[in-house]
Amino acid sequence: MHTPEYLDFLRTIARDWAKLPNTSPEVVPNVHPARYPATYPKALAGRAGWHQVDLACPIGPHTWEAAVAASESAASAVDLVLNGEAEAYALCRPPGHHAYADMAGGFCFLNNTAIAAQRLRQKHQRVAVLDVDVHHGNGTQGIFYARPDVYTVSIHADPVAYYPYVWGYAHERGEGPGLGTNLNIPLAIGTGDDGYVQAMDVARKAIESFAPGALVIALGLDPSEHDPLKGLAVTTPGFRRIGQAIARMGLPTVFVQEGGYLSDILGANLTSVLAGFEEAR
Ligand SMILES: [Zn+2]
Repeated sequence: MHTPEYLDFLRTIARDWAKLPNTSPEVVPNVHPARYPATYPKALAGRAGWHQVDLACPIGPHTWEAAVAASESAASAVDLVLNGEAEAYALCRPPGHHAYADMAGGFCFLNNTAIAAQRLRQKHQRVAVLDVDVHHGNGTQGIFYARPDVYTVSIHADPVAYYPYVWGYAHERGEGPGLGTNLNIPLAIGTGDDGYVQAMDVARKAIESFAPGALVIALGLDPSEHDPLKGLAVTTPGFRRIGQAIARMGLPTVFVQEGGYLSDILGANLTSVLAGFEEAR
């Protein structure tokens, strides 16, 4: 899932960085090497730039432990489902869906959603991931881009005007053996419940024709109308409809918590998704 050099980087960089003279308390690179033919650097600043795609993933002394704990939470939820539960929810912090095989970004270090999907492959030939975070699930897309066995679908605010800007467009459909197993559904900024539920319908039909054995929901709560980033405008009853649409797929389902910035409505929206899911089951 993640490359050995990236895992080694995440595990050791905060400690080694702290030994550098005149350094910042958290690892924040000042170079981001473009991936044209290039050489994996030895210098800490170079490695940091190589593995950190943006400035929203500073690495501190406890980042590694927190990221591992979050991924273990996702793995535990998968194990419950593999052992017969119809669904399970993993409260993962930090989130994961912006993390690539070898690159952190957007507050994500280990891709909990991708780890969950891969673990479900132990039992299921085909697994689908549906990302309902307001941001495109670029890391998850990247990890499975060339794989035909994991279908990745993301509904998100149009990257033409929204993070991550350079991924998340409808024309990104997978590559090689994975061509056709990635579906992006970008929505206009400010889209509300009805537009969102229509997109869920498109996603559901696409996932049903892939016929997976299990489903991972990358559960971002930031499409909320009250989210401070104001990408989409889903209401609390709208989140219930999202939960209902997920349940209609009738699949063993692992919910992995992704984004959701602080707002008073955050808890109510989570309850609403899960209640909608339960009542339509
Ligand atoms: Zn998000």
